[in-house]
Amino acid sequence: MTTRKAIVTGGTRGIGGAISIALKEAGCTVAATYAGNDDAARKFKAEAGINVFKWDVGDYDACKAGVAEIEKTQGPTDILVNNAGITRDGFFHKMKPEQWREVIRADLDSVFNMSHQVFPGMRERGFGRIINITSVNGQKGQAGQTNYSAAKAGMIGFTRALAQEGAFKGVTVNAIAPGYIATDMVAAVDESVMQKIIAQIPVGRLGEAEEIARCVVFLAEDKAGFITGSVITANGGQYFAG
Ligand code: NDP
Repeated sequence: MTTRKAIVTGGTRGIGGAISIALKEAGCTVAATYAGNDDAARKFKAEAGINVFKWDVGDYDACKAGVAEIEKTQGPTDILVNNAGITRDGFFHKMKPEQWREVIRADLDSVFNMSHQVFPGMRERGFGRIINITSVNGQKGQAGQTNYSAAKAGMIGFTRALAQEGAFKGVTVNAIAPGYIATDMVAAVDESVMQKIIAQIPVGRLGEAEEIARCVVFLAEDKAGFITGSVITANGGQYFAG
């Protein structure tokens, strides 16, 4: 891969951390963003040698300022990975409006907020890769996650629509739908629930963050220009999306 410039949101830990490292190893210059976990970000920066930037990707103006700051140092963005995300689980009849709003904001508004900063420049330069990390639960739905399933399904619609707008200008837009991956997000799930989840995964285990990162590198390559509007499913056989 040529020296492409990448931004990975939520790129300092979990799946995003693995994506940042894999893109760096593939030859990219990478900036990793995060929300507030300074300790994790500091540790990641020291270990991976990747610059980190803190802002809330749910805030449009913060995204505008943050991307401008990154581009001042590393140049125009060729690759954007919209990976940052949160869960605020709860059954719908008990879900508070804040739980709904927080997840839509962090997981879906963020995709607009970030893509909007880089897409015009990608069009002008005739090259771009936007890669959205959705979820198996955006494909099949999940009880207790109406907010998260809606946001993640929304990312898939966004991906397919923007792919059509970017195709003629060399900008591909794709999504990756991970199944359950061993990160802090999944560690928050109750142990008995986790055993039930693993029982539904034919591969018989959780996925590794690196297994998602390699999908990102594949889609980010210059040679991947004919793949756009796709959703790559990586879920250990848990669900076969149509
Ligand atoms: P983690 O909770 O381990 O990490 C989330 C990352 O996103 C952190 O770097 C966090 O920053 C950042 N982040 C969260 N909210 C914001 C925000 N508002 N602004 C900026 N950064 C933010 O998550 P995972 O690695 O598990 O998940 C990564 C993505 O993959 C998410 O979109 C998730 O929905 C998706 N996914 C995960 C699966 C899994 O099984 N783990 C399965 C399917 C999809 P900070 O460190 O500061 O908190």
